[in-house]
Amino acid sequence: MRRVGLTVALIALGAAPVRAEALKARFIGNEAFEITDGKVTLLSDFPYHSGAYGYMKYRFEDVRPQGKVLCLITHKHEDHFDPTLFKKTDWTLLGPAKMVRGVDPAKLLPIQDLVRFEDMEIRPIRTPHGNMEHYSYWVRWHGLKLFFSGDTEEMDALTRIGKADVVFISPWLLESWQGLGPPNAGRVIVYHHKADEKIQCIQCVVPKQGDEIEISY
Ligand SMILES: [Zn+2]
Repeated sequence: MRRVGLTVALIALGAAPVRAEALKARFIGNEAFEITDGKVTLLSDFPYHSGAYGYMKYRFEDVRPQGKVLCLITHKHEDHFDPTLFKKTDWTLLGPAKMVRGVDPAKLLPIQDLVRFEDMEIRPIRTPHGNMEHYSYWVRWHGLKLFFSGDTEEMDALTRIGKADVVFISPWLLESWQGLGPPNAGRVIVYHHKADEKIQCIQCVVPKQGDEIEISY
């Protein structure tokens, strides 16, 4: 038993290349994650306007997503989406109908019940956030079920669909969710926190900008 334990420890200490069967998620800031399988990249709520409303800053030039790129945007606030930055890219966009007005139609996916991009299946769910057009998203990718809450204050979309593999969630929605009992998810990753914010949670990840998280599939 002891020897087996040691072997495992030594492997864990060695250089750890990303396995073929894992998504790599890098935290950019706010609700922006760069998530890739090496061929396709999903950008959640990115590109956003650096430092908008006093939230996290980053350098746009530092973000170089691999392969085909989809920007999955919950709503039009500047701390989630900056159309001027998006215009500089050849990325594809999925977001609220009002927000995407004026964007080159060739770069758009229509918002509908089920949206496909490469080998992803995306289900936008209309969720409240003030009086904005706002969507939370379920994404099925490599058999994983990922949930992105966005800024909504309502838990319906999250609780309705059952167990998720990974939930990306704001601190305020996490607080409500934890009030119902242990979160029904393989992993819970907090986003849209302030850099020095203390988050009360059990077994969740509170990333710092630049952190990378591996999600096996
Ligand atoms: Zn926000």
